[in-house]
Amino acid sequence: MKILFVGSECAPFIKSGGLADVLGSLPKALVQQGVECSVVLPKYRDMKFADTLEFVTSYYIWVSWRREYCGIFKTVLDGVTFYFIDNEHYFGRPGLYSYDDDNERFAYFDFAVLEMMSHLDIKPDILSLHDWQAAMIAPLYKERYGYYEFYRNIKITFTIHNIAYQGKADPRLINDLYALGDHLYYNGNLRNDNCFNMMKSAILYSDLVTTVSPTYANEILTDEYGEGMQAILNMKRDRLIGILNGIDYDTNNPETDPNILYHFNIDNWKEEKVKNKLALQRELGLPENPDIPLIGIVTRLTWQKGLDLIFDKIEELLNRDVQIVLLGSGDRHYEEGLSYWAGVYPEKFSCNLKYDFPLSCRIYASCDMFLMPSLFEPCGLSQMMSLRYGTIPIVRETGGLKDSVTPYNEYNMTGTGFSFAHYNSDEMMSVIDYATHIYHDKAHWNHIVASAMSEKLDWEASGKQYIEAFESLLNE
Ligand code: ADP
Repeated sequence: MKILFVGSECAPFIKSGGLADVLGSLPKALVQQGVECSVVLPKYRDMKFADTLEFVTSYYIWVSWRREYCGIFKTVLDGVTFYFIDNEHYFGRPGLYSYDDDNERFAYFDFAVLEMMSHLDIKPDILSLHDWQAAMIAPLYKERYGYYEFYRNIKITFTIHNIAYQGKADPRLINDLYALGDHLYYNGNLRNDNCFNMMKSAILYSDLVTTVSPTYANEILTDEYGEGMQAILNMKRDRLIGILNGIDYDTNNPETDPNILYHFNIDNWKEEKVKNKLALQRELGLPENPDIPLIGIVTRLTWQKGLDLIFDKIEELLNRDVQIVLLGSGDRHYEEGLSYWAGVYPEKFSCNLKYDFPLSCRIYASCDMFLMPSLFEPCGLSQMMSLRYGTIPIVRETGGLKDSVTPYNEYNMTGTGFSFAHYNSDEMMSVIDYATHIYHDKAHWNHIVASAMSEKLDWEASGKQYIEAFESLLNE
């Protein structure tokens, strides 16, 4: 089986969120299970390893009425071939997104991917599209490219990493950017809520829709979580599956992680992990204390991540016997509020408003607990990294958080974390109190850390599920 993955970011080249982690690790895992995988993404100005790429070819393509340059670069990493679409005008800029012409940039990208396939004679069995930036490839394929001999018989899958980001746009762009007819708007194929909607289009035109956890696959069928997509998803529910993301166990490894000072594993974590804790307290200017519960938070600062619950209770929390280390960047009102509380409680709260990968690793390795009270969470990777590093997650039971963290049961000593059901700050607070209570009972705490570190949340099982789903699609 040959799979071509298409998405807008991919680790280790460029990353802004979990999508990059998935595109960086899932293809690698599938290659290990005997599948031929390639990934295609834009060649951004700020990407890493740009000077190691090999130039393949260049030509001009049509993007509706526009004639645009398209260069192709490539490299091979861990058995996966990565292709990069080069165009200075669209991608030779700082960062990844948030430009006024993002719709045009990714319309260009979508055409470039389809054209690249015939120019380089790449014909996958499965074209695996990820998020709105790649979504319009599905209607472009089904309405146009799929009729040409070269492109025939390719199955299209679409993966929803976060249903909140749909690619909503002015209906006039359907013609202006994609040269698709207005009738596809008026018959509802490309329309949702009287707006051109790329995610809706991909859901409708794909042969299979996947999302990143089983619980999220059920949640998005409801009015509460569906963000307007619930009707179309219910219509296609026999073609919707949720497969829990994994994390890369080679790179997220407390025994070898180059960003942490003291390496550890399930046998020696009791002696070594606390050394990381003391080092992190020193690094961030918190009082060095091995016995105080140290709670980590690494997140984008956005409403999705449950920051409103944290703000509700932050003063109460900082009056408990705990320390908090936060790393994150995002919405200004959260950043300003957090800075304020860090100023009021400098001995208790270290607030780091930036994107810092090495520091994130030290937080996962050093803290006792990791707080993630998300309003919704398609999968979430941070709680999985925490488990791997023996840092006990405290989560809300939603999406992938529910599927990856088993609440601790002190009576039969099972479970890997702590969780609460409702989006309610009192519930969150009582679970944090319960977790800190258990923390001081070392017989329980040692058990829970050992269970967390033994959990297997890599891609082995999830990779198999993708292969099974794709194979049954090909056998239809
Ligand atoms: P999402 O994709 O919604 O942001 P995930 O939990 O799926 O959430 O993935 C977030 C990833 O980004 C994790 O690997 C996390 O460690 C990382 N991350 C988030 N914020 C920061 C930050 N400020 N600095 C470093 N890494 C971060």
